Amino acid sequence: MDRLISKIRDIPDFPKPGIIFKDITPLVKDPAALKLSVHQLMQPFLGSEITAIAGMEARGFIFGSLVAWEMGLPFIPLRKPGKLPYDVQSVSYDLEYGSAVLEAHIDAFEPDDKVLLIDDLLATGGTAKASCELIEKLGAKVVACAFVVELDFLNGRERLDAYQVHSLLHF
Ligand code: IMP
Repeated sequence: MDRLISKIRDIPDFPKPGIIFKDITPLVKDPAALKLSVHQLMQPFLGSEITAIAGMEARGFIFGSLVAWEMGLPFIPLRKPGKLPYDVQSVSYDLEYGSAVLEAHIDAFEPDDKVLLIDDLLATGGTAKASCELIEKLGAKVVACAFVVELDFLNGRERLDAYQVHSLLHF
């Protein structure tokens, strides 16, 4: 895990003053670190009931699609509004200032899908919670959520108490 921690870069005052942004681009630039993070993300779920991997735009696409590839499972993108070409289901959620929307195609999941949700980072949990709601609106079941980084002091995990939560690195 030290190899992974050394690849997370702190960017002070991004995207606004007072925020220390955890930048994962050094990690995805290092093939061995990227491979290790993907294997660690999927490790608890090998041989499990999971039938699909979902990931949020944009950094969830990086880790989610690699996990899906490695596990031989479908990858379902949860997208920002207006990007998907077919009929969509959407969910809106509150941010610190304003709100955001995530969308997925209405036929993105099979009715009996058991989904592992993947993103780069768990902060307040708002994005992940909304993603779980979207998946459930589409008739699938969320089994677990997995993150490369969890910011423990923001207690995002509490909002995901209905699900198994797996994080590789804690700050
Ligand atoms: P939350 O909804 O507050 O849990 O924020 C998590 C979402 O915001 C995820 O989709 C992350 O990609 C993004 N995010 C928030 N803070 C950071 C950060 O420090 N580094 C990278 N992504 C972040």
